[in-house]
Amino acid sequence: MFNAYMTQALDLLRRYYGYPSFRPAQEPVVESLLAGRDTVAIMPTGAGKSICFQVPALMFPGITLVISPLISLMKDQVDALQQAGIAATYINSSLSHSESDARLQAIARGEYKLIYVAPERLDTGYFQYIIESQRIAMVAVDEAHCLSQWGHDFRPSYRQIAPFIAGLPQRPLVTAFTATATPEVRDDIIRLLELQQPDVHVSGFDRPNLYFAVERGVDKKAYITRYIKNHADQPGIIYAATRKEVDKLYDLLRRKKLAVGRYHAGLSEQERARAQDDFLYDNLQVIIATNAFGMGIDKSNVRFVIHYNMPKNIEAYYQEAGRAGRDGEPGECILLFSPQDTMTQRYLINVSTEDEQRKVHNLAKLQKMVDYCHTPDCLRAFIIRYFGGTPEKEDCGNCSSCQDDTEKVDVTIEAQKIFSCVYRMHERFGLTLVAQVLKGSTEKRVHQLHFDELSTYGIMRDHTLSDIKLFMQRFIAQDYMALSESEFPVVQLRPAAYAVMRGQLKVWQPVPKKQVKKQAEPALFDHLRDLRKEIAQAQHIPPYLVFSDATLRDMCAVMPRNLDEMLSVKGVGEQKLNRFGQQFLDCIQANK
Ligand code: ADP
Ligand code: ZN
Repeated sequence: MFNAYMTQALDLLRRYYGYPSFRPAQEPVVESLLAGRDTVAIMPTGAGKSICFQVPALMFPGITLVISPLISLMKDQVDALQQAGIAATYINSSLSHSESDARLQAIARGEYKLIYVAPERLDTGYFQYIIESQRIAMVAVDEAHCLSQWGHDFRPSYRQIAPFIAGLPQRPLVTAFTATATPEVRDDIIRLLELQQPDVHVSGFDRPNLYFAVERGVDKKAYITRYIKNHADQPGIIYAATRKEVDKLYDLLRRKKLAVGRYHAGLSEQERARAQDDFLYDNLQVIIATNAFGMGIDKSNVRFVIHYNMPKNIEAYYQEAGRAGRDGEPGECILLFSPQDTMTQRYLINVSTEDEQRKVHNLAKLQKMVDYCHTPDCLRAFIIRYFGGTPEKEDCGNCSSCQDDTEKVDVTIEAQKIFSCVYRMHERFGLTLVAQVLKGSTEKRVHQLHFDELSTYGIMRDHTLSDIKLFMQRFIAQDYMALSESEFPVVQLRPAAYAVMRGQLKVWQPVPKKQVKKQAEPALFDHLRDLRKEIAQAQHIPPYLVFSDATLRDMCAVMPRNLDEMLSVKGVGEQKLNRFGQQFLDCIQANK
């Protein structure tokens, strides 16, 4: 159905956002909205959900209310809309009383097309009073999974949305957006928002521009240090499981003089706001954070997301990792796995979940996450299947499983030595002690326990102690061995290990992939980035709101010679052309 409405929508997309077309996943959603049907759109992070409701909002007679859970998210989106020349505002608890009053007056005068509000705001009398005097064309519920207690991010205040809508003089179009695709969550959204025969669009969950990797058994600290050094100038996020881990990593990297910040709930509000802003404004290359960071961060030029620890489920992982490459440019999502992470997450689920049914549900989800870390098959295909999709290929060529250009090495001999040693120590000791025995260590404890009399004592003395441990961790990841779930985890053998000891099974391990050095950007890109930062600082907005990385890169490719040509660059709309076009043009001319 390509009608006059769609043509108008495309026209607005070009004029305000500078994009030549809707993405394939956006088009059917926009069509549903323009046809006036209640809609649920499930799209992965970075797919471009906001434009799906913002463009129709411009066309509807009346106001669109956007319900959004987070203050920083609202501010960011409204800033972006204002940069594009669209009349938008937000109302939430961050505003002073007089500021919020002024905005409500302006709403009453009909000055805005889009208004972002927190759900808590909906049942305040004055807000209702003002809103009822206006024509509300659409209510768009962003992060709609917050409605469902099965989502990872349940917010009771979201349950106030349906009664609020029911109380409006005229029922608006109701639309819901989320990146969470599980059926329970989707059903809850439809039921709890009281949607009327909604169109449901589940778009492909693939993010082809993202590279996925799982690194098992690596020295995580060394890995991260090296990675940051190899990716200087590229913004990235490092997620760790606990505040303590964040602090430790932060201290370590600061000592190495790397430009990192940190973010977790244990810091003061000012410290957090500062870290977040420094990261958004490109003053800090890397932020180390717990999962408290990121919801509400629309920074589009994040180039990598590294998980220092495994998260609790695939939804959480994909949402966090998906913060890389929102501008469609390449991004890397790397998960550093160690078996300890499984125990940490299991512990957290056990202490934090009271409801038995929910506990079982969460543990099953955790197991899927663990499976992702162990699968030798395509990681992308694994994720797509998890979200109920069908992967196009079994071999995406852009993840650590299918891009593994390194050879697999036969490590059967090492495996036999290690398994025999664990066996002879009666599966009652931890990683370190087993490794010490294999190394032939003269530690007192080895002596006391008479392990220096074992036939496996010192049979790996040619390896370093940390190498031996690394072997062991990989064998655990490959399920030849396991760590017991006790306070002091001991190494135990799994059935496959016996087959190896009997010589019936060979063991292969991939040698860790050498990190590819990033491609050099053209020198012009650096100049444009500097200019972007200058402008952003003067305007007090984050640089990516001036132009995205993708737009700067397109400028380097197009090399516009005049404003007309500048308008053909992806991401340059009329408003931004007027405001920044000439400056960027001058910069290009001066540096060509
Ligand atoms: P989501 O909310 O789904 O995570 P966003 O709305 O933040 O995603 O969009 C992600 C990025 O994609 C933004 O930088 C946005 O400007 C860009 N984008 C959205 N729609 C298009 C389009 N049709 N063409 C090009 N870029 C787009
Ligand atoms: Zn793959």
